[in-house]
Amino acid sequence: MPYDWWVSAHDSVTHAFPIFRDASAEFHQAACAHAVPPELLVRERGADYCLSCLTIAGSHLRETP
Ligand SMILES: [Zn+2]
Repeated sequence: MPYDWWVSAHDSVTHAFPIFRDASAEFHQAACAHAVPPELLVRERGADYCLSCLTIAGSHLRETP
């Protein structure tokens, strides 16, 4: 699952938002279940990353032989 790594203005942390999400939804939900309304979503990466999102996104990475 590919993600957009975007900052939530709620906590100023970069979360992983699945790119295949409902763009018209009232809230965008990150992999860690952090939810943010579109107007509080900063479409760029910040300095601090959400550890839960990193763990969840990392667990989806395919191992290369
Ligand atoms: Zn997160």
